[in-house]
Amino acid sequence: MNLKLKTKANSNPVARWLKKNLLLFLTVIGVIVGIVGGTLLRFAEPSRTVIKLISFPGELFMNMLKCMILPLIASSLVSGLCQLDAKSSGRLGSRAMLYYCLTTTHAVILGIIIVTIIHPGDPAIKANAPHESLAHANISALDKFMDLLRNMFTDNIVHSMFAQKQTIYNYDDNGTIIGQGLTTEDGMNVLGLITFCIVMGLVLSKIGQVGKPLADLFHAIDAVITKMVMIIMWFGVVGIPSLIAGKMLEVTNLWLTAKTLGMFIVTVITGLAIQCFITLPLILFIGSRQNPYRFLKGLSQAILTALATSSSAATLPITFRCLNNLKIDRRVTKFVLPVGAMVNMDGTALYEATASIFIAQMNGMSLSFGQVLTVSITATLASIGAAAIPSAGLVTMIIVLSALGLPATDISLIFTVDWFLDRLRTATNVVGDAFGCGFVYYLCKDHLNEIDENAPKLDIHGMDIDTLEKQADQITPEGTEISLEKAEKGENIQISSIRVD
Ligand code: ASP
Repeated sequence: MNLKLKTKANSNPVARWLKKNLLLFLTVIGVIVGIVGGTLLRFAEPSRTVIKLISFPGELFMNMLKCMILPLIASSLVSGLCQLDAKSSGRLGSRAMLYYCLTTTHAVILGIIIVTIIHPGDPAIKANAPHESLAHANISALDKFMDLLRNMFTDNIVHSMFAQKQTIYNYDDNGTIIGQGLTTEDGMNVLGLITFCIVMGLVLSKIGQVGKPLADLFHAIDAVITKMVMIIMWFGVVGIPSLIAGKMLEVTNLWLTAKTLGMFIVTVITGLAIQCFITLPLILFIGSRQNPYRFLKGLSQAILTALATSSSAATLPITFRCLNNLKIDRRVTKFVLPVGAMVNMDGTALYEATASIFIAQMNGMSLSFGQVLTVSITATLASIGAAAIPSAGLVTMIIVLSALGLPATDISLIFTVDWFLDRLRTATNVVGDAFGCGFVYYLCKDHLNEIDENAPKLDIHGMDIDTLEKQADQITPEGTEISLEKAEKGENIQISSIRVD
């Protein structure tokens, strides 16, 4: 346990507001500087070296966040699950699954309805849209699905920390498939790691005393990583504008793309906005009777990071922090958030459905009911299979397109807008995951309180600080931090609040 004493500071409301929101305030300014600065700099036609230097702090920020993903996921899942009994984890898990199914299905159906109403696809666009080539994008839906399961049940946990399995085809000179095999792709196999850590956490919660040293190790890693994330968040003040400005400078055809694919962009934005600002808040309100928009506001820092990084995995550390500040029980966050970040992608699901029907419209194809149903199922699978990294959704869209019999290479038609829409769907994914934690927490709150009530208690009344520290050490898990806020009134020191992290 780590015990901190803080003296109650300033009572000036502006100073208090700034103290509480300084990071967010600076990040918002950073986003504005990134967008405006990046757009204006385009006119100056900067050299490659200048662009590289502008993007560099962003690259380092991204590295720092990515570096946290593995220890964060492992420690939070194991330390979270080993604190719960089988009944509680089953309860949290089933509520989370209910939420994931509900929101993903809604996102897909919403995407289909909106793209059908707005109908942004026109065969003329196909002729004019800026294309970019995609090499061998045509892996079959079945093989993609099998790769998903293969990665989930990994044969080598160490290997999963930096690589994953993927099916590849061998072609003859005419481009016909003559065989297939497995290759390893760079990139963490998060699904495999999550599966392994969930099982490990569950087993640790069952085996009792013999597993305690290992559980303590994960508690300790969790506490250290949480602190490290707090430090990294301050780098975002420079990293986020750098990422945004760098991207604005890199993109070619900005105007042409906006003109030709404008209606598609509007369609996707409308769908994502409905999901973020109406559906998810409504679900949280129904589950909790709390104000969902206050909750949404508390996620601002995570939303801005998602917009800048295009990766819900890289945003994960920040989302944890936001949920902590929103006072969501850490037993819920530690379990529900990492799993949600990998499998629950509302923004991606909506995008997969919208974009594939848009491509069908551009090919002059009108979809039958059966085909719409195919889109719904495959878009859901494709969103589950998408990794939480930039543009992953674009790659898994192959599943939807091939199920519709559309050429996978048509993905290149929307390639030029993907860098932009990816940011928006990532932000939606992050909001969906965080709302999921809120939803599960409020549904399981009574049960968790009951567990707490039966736990050993610490009566701090009249206790001096040293005794308090010793006693708390015995009943709180390793790595817990207790902050005491003290108010000095003349000679007397009174403890005015206690916070347990
Ligand atoms: N970039 C998204 C994410 O990290 C995934 C996607 O490409 O849709 O959540």
